Amino acid sequence: MKLTIERAKQWMRKYNEQIQEQKTYLTELDQAIGDGDHGLNMARGFEEVIKKIESTNYTSLDALFKDVAMTLISKVGGASGPLYGTAFLRFATSLKSEKEADRTNLAEGLNAALEGIKVRGKAHAGDKTMIDVWEPVVNYVRTESVITGRKLAQLAKEKMEETKDMEAKMGRASYLGKRSIGYIDPGAASSYLLFASLADCFEK
Ligand code: ADP
Ligand code: MG
Ligand code: MG
Repeated sequence: MKLTIERAKQWMRKYNEQIQEQKTYLTELDQAIGDGDHGLNMARGFEEVIKKIESTNYTSLDALFKDVAMTLISKVGGASGPLYGTAFLRFATSLKSEKEADRTNLAEGLNAALEGIKVRGKAHAGDKTMIDVWEPVVNYVRTESVITGRKLAQLAKEKMEETKDMEAKMGRASYLGKRSIGYIDPGAASSYLLFASLADCFEK
């Protein structure tokens, strides 16, 4: 399992495809418990990310993911832009100016990204946010002796589905209190797609 620059680009391409395809679905999830813009926010942000990275030649992973981060921070409003932006910025910093990351470096990078989301948003596991997908996935990549793309995607999906029964404690959905129960968290859904896209790159 190696993340090369080309594979990293493929990951972002695949994720953008997924986001564009699922834009309406993500927006519907956010209509139920938020302000109905999550699909639009992510679709706009990743369209810009793709424009940026397809027009640039990268010689290091950190340069690529810094561009992803800065694009998201500058183009996506709301909670998700700064949160995903921070995640990719920490990921970039952790990967340093290497051309490829092995599994250990990838796991460390994802953990740094997760820590960034937590510091920025002050949420914890169980608050019904993207962290409920990120934390178990990062733990899986860090600790499991054999990791497969299939299992990674499966775990992310399960964790996304588990947010349905949670009561939101952070973000807009928390304004609904108990009425937030019964709906999948939009950021957990977009995070599932992020890890499913990553998993897909490693299956090939
Ligand atoms: P906004 O809520 O500002 O309209 P989005 O709709 O784009 O932003 O994103 C909402 C998602 O952001 C939520 O579904 C949740 O997963 C995530 N989120 C919101 N607040 C936090 C937080 N404090 N920590 C982690 N994730 C959060
Ligand atoms: Mg929203
Ligand atoms: Mg909003």
